[in-house]
Amino acid sequence: MSPRRVCAISVDLDELHHYYAIHGLAAPAAPAAHQVYDTALARYRDFARAERLPLTLFVVGSDLARGQNAAALRALAGEGHELGNHTLDHRYELSRLPRAQMREQVAGAADALAHATGVRPTGFRAPGYVTSDELYAVLAELDVHYSSSVFPCPYYYLAKLAKLGELRLRGRRSQSIASGPQLLWAPRTPYRTGQPYWRAGAGVLELPIQVTPRLRLPVIGTSLMLLGPQRARRLVRGLVHEPFINLELHGLDLLDAHDQLSELAPHQLDLRVSLERKWQTLSAVVAELRAHGFAFERLDQVASACS
Ligand SMILES: [Zn+2]
Repeated sequence: MSPRRVCAISVDLDELHHYYAIHGLAAPAAPAAHQVYDTALARYRDFARAERLPLTLFVVGSDLARGQNAAALRALAGEGHELGNHTLDHRYELSRLPRAQMREQVAGAADALAHATGVRPTGFRAPGYVTSDELYAVLAELDVHYSSSVFPCPYYYLAKLAKLGELRLRGRRSQSIASGPQLLWAPRTPYRTGQPYWRAGAGVLELPIQVTPRLRLPVIGTSLMLLGPQRARRLVRGLVHEPFINLELHGLDLLDAHDQLSELAPHQLDLRVSLERKWQTLSAVVAELRAHGFAFERLDQVASACS
């Protein structure tokens, strides 16, 4: 019998104003302001139906105050998709907040989700992949079953430092912060966090975001969309001997500049890739993994199998 191979596709539903803030731009007005919930979410639903696979959707709690967002997520949960905790307000400096506020950000999102959708999340993803030992201690206190927040990718770390430096030179401030370089030595396959959290121990289960085995190249929505169908296929072919692939996407990965986002497009390279090509890329990745015997599961199912 061949070994069990599983891929989980998760989508962080960061609404558009977070991207404007990362690039130092003022918050957008409607309709650009709500394109992740009003446009991208239905595209993900259609994609999941067409490919017959479940998704894990990481939800920012404060977005549930908008009635139509909560209704859309309720419907998706009813179709078998997982709703995960992406904090109450998506504060990039979460890991540096006082412990009580950190707790409020995690517990507040779980309560908001439970109240708005009837589903209490068991999984957590930190905003901007930035975590800390204290944050994991809070997750353990709050009985979070798993975190999927560590992204052990040197290229992403360097690109983020460069972006923050560039904005600072231009006198603009980004809301984003970078984690320490220690993170780059974190395991790249599921592990229980230790002290410090990038070493293995007996703490909260962490399902790191996908990088390639040796070079630790990023295998996330943004990089796949920029590569396009053929090269994305080739990149994931390098992963087919992994027992588990943790593919992280964003709402933005199924939007393009035509979705009223022409103001953001000059700053956000991947918005210039057409929706059609993005869809083809995702389909190509799923087809490649299926051809190698991968099954698609939600992250909570993967976490249960790990524990
Ligand atoms: Zn996010």
